[in-house]
Amino acid sequence: MHDGEPPIRRRAPATLSENLMVMEPVVHLLSDLVAIPSMNPMGRSRSGKEYSEQTIAEYVQHYLKKNSIDVQLQDIEPGRPNVVGVLDVGASKTILLEAHLDTVHADNMVVEPFTPTIRDGMLYGRGACDTKSSVASIIQATINTLGRGRLGANLILLFPADEEYRFGGAQYAARQGLKADFGIIGEPTSLSIIRAHKGVTRWRIYTKGELAHSAYPERGKNAIYLMAEVIQKLEQFARELAERSPHPLLGSPRMSVGVIEGGQAVNIVPDRCWIEIDRRTLPGESENAILQETKTILRNCSDWEFEPPYLSVGGMELSEEEPAVQKLSQCVRECVGASSIEVAPYGTDAGVYAAIGIPCVVFGPGNIAQAHTDSEYVELSQIEQAVQIIERFISS
Ligand SMILES: [Zn+2]
Repeated sequence: MHDGEPPIRRRAPATLSENLMVMEPVVHLLSDLVAIPSMNPMGRSRSGKEYSEQTIAEYVQHYLKKNSIDVQLQDIEPGRPNVVGVLDVGASKTILLEAHLDTVHADNMVVEPFTPTIRDGMLYGRGACDTKSSVASIIQATINTLGRGRLGANLILLFPADEEYRFGGAQYAARQGLKADFGIIGEPTSLSIIRAHKGVTRWRIYTKGELAHSAYPERGKNAIYLMAEVIQKLEQFARELAERSPHPLLGSPRMSVGVIEGGQAVNIVPDRCWIEIDRRTLPGESENAILQETKTILRNCSDWEFEPPYLSVGGMELSEEEPAVQKLSQCVRECVGASSIEVAPYGTDAGVYAAIGIPCVVFGPGNIAQAHTDSEYVELSQIEQAVQIIERFISS
């Protein structure tokens, strides 16, 4: 953990260029990646190339090409590509190395989001931790290993778009028939190996009322009041869920109402209100069962309607004894002295791949506590260690 003050916004970013001469190539690469905005519009009406993965995908493709690695861009929707490449060395096993290209938005950051700054061994900027440091580590480890000509398995390099909102890039790749024997999904885990995590289902619930002038509220039906009843039931249900008998690794499921919107003006009785639900699921909980259960909870409320989920990804769980998990753990030990295999409460692309039969772990440099924050950073020493660990894992 870094206890010092983050560098304040608009601080001259001189430290970066001064130090570039002595930096590891992976740090150069990470700096370049952070300097290219690739914010996820998160379903809102934000647009422009800063809210797209196009520029960073082209950069990654060009960088790999310079290093004799051929990858393609595949649009998951116009202007939002995945980067994908297969390195087939005729081995019997195939390893998927994956890390997403998108970041959350950079509003209200207190460090320069797209002018990467290095101070005290940390690189600051949006995406530095989540998860451009994983993108850079995977690329550098692959280049290093190929440079020595000793890849121990076929590799699939996959840098998807749209992880932060809908896991859209991963779902697209899964629909294209992605196949691998094992996957390392790059996310900030502080180099711990995450072998199980929850899934997540997100959807909207609407209430439908009737418009009226607010001087005659009795002539309308207030959609916000209708929603208030829905929310009370959901809040009670969320408490019950949290007390449900826990999964041995992942604890109990969770539910939270995260967004509410309704009404056009204070002097109008609103006819429409909606909320957005975030339901954290355990391995084995199906989308259908979750929706049915929630509908049952709301059976005594009126005039509500569910939209189909815009995101639904299962949890994942892999045995600690899985040979690939043990091998990765050994690589971590050899590089940093100790390793840990853990579980996590958050969801990742790994849930998508687990659902199509690819055993995965989540692993990468950076601390999840710094992800999405206003002073996001990553420790450079962890990136260098991640490169060594991945290199060891994919070498013969
Ligand atoms: Zn991430």
